[in-house]
Amino acid sequence: MIRLQNACVRYGEVVALRGVSMHVQPGDRLALVGTNGSGKSTLLRALHGLIDLSQGRREVQGWGPSAQGPAMAMLFQKPFLLNLSVQANLQLALWLRGVPRSLRATRVQEALEKAHLTDCAHRFARALSGGQQQRLALARAWATRPDLLFLDEPTASLDPGAKREVERLITEFAAEGVTVVMSTHNLGQVKRLATRVAYLEAGQVKVDCDVDAFFNGPLPPEAAQFMRGELI
Ligand code: ADP
Ligand code: MG
Repeated sequence: MIRLQNACVRYGEVVALRGVSMHVQPGDRLALVGTNGSGKSTLLRALHGLIDLSQGRREVQGWGPSAQGPAMAMLFQKPFLLNLSVQANLQLALWLRGVPRSLRATRVQEALEKAHLTDCAHRFARALSGGQQQRLALARAWATRPDLLFLDEPTASLDPGAKREVERLITEFAAEGVTVVMSTHNLGQVKRLATRVAYLEAGQVKVDCDVDAFFNGPLPPEAAQFMRGELI
C-alpha cells in the first residue's frame, strides 16, 4: 500500500529518520517498537505522508475502484476531540470526509455501538474518561472507512481495563480488513495485536520481521536488550 525508499526526515539539526526503506502491505498489523526518541512517531507520519522527506521517496499503490491510494486515518496518544457532543464529533468527521448526509446517521449509530458509547452520545466528548475518549477517537476513524489506520501509542496513558477495550476495537477493525500500523511501548500488546514488528533504533529500522520471529528468533544485540526491558 505504501513504500518508503531510503526515507530521511530532519527536524532542523535533528535527524529523526535515517534511510528507512519499508513497506506496508494489505492486511498487515505492523507494530513499531523502540526506545523513546527512536523515531516511531516520525515513521508513522512519514508513512502517512504528513511530513516531507528530506531525502528518499514515498510511493503509494493505486487502491480501490478509483485507484487513488488507500484511505488513511491516524490516531494519536492523546485523542484530539472537539469540544462538542460525542455524536457531533462523529458527525463532523463524516461530513469532513464527504460522507453523504443520508449515510451519516447510520454510520454514527454503528460507531457508537462499536465503541460501546451509545449511552454517551449526547455527553461532551471531552468530559468522557480517557479510555472512552480513545474509543471515540478510534470509532471516529473507523467510521470514515479507512483502508489503513495509523495508531501512535494508542493506549500509552490508559489503565489496564481501558487498554483492553481499545485493544478489542483495534482487533475488530483489523479483522474487518483494516490494515493497521501502530507504535507501542508494550510488548504484550505487540504479541496480542501484531503480525509483524519493526524495531527502530536512532531513526533506523534494525529489525523487520513477523511477530513469531521477533519473539523467538535471534535478534541483534540492542533489539535483544530492548526485549529484556533493559532499554527505555
Ligand atoms: P518516538 O516516537 O520513537 O519517541 P519521535 O519520532 O517522536 O520518536 O522522535 C525522533 C527524534 O526526533 C527524537 O530525537 C525527537 O527528539 C526528535 N523530534 C521529534 N519531533 C520533533 C520536532 N517537532 N522538532 C524537533 N525534533 C523532533
Ligand atoms: Mg512517539
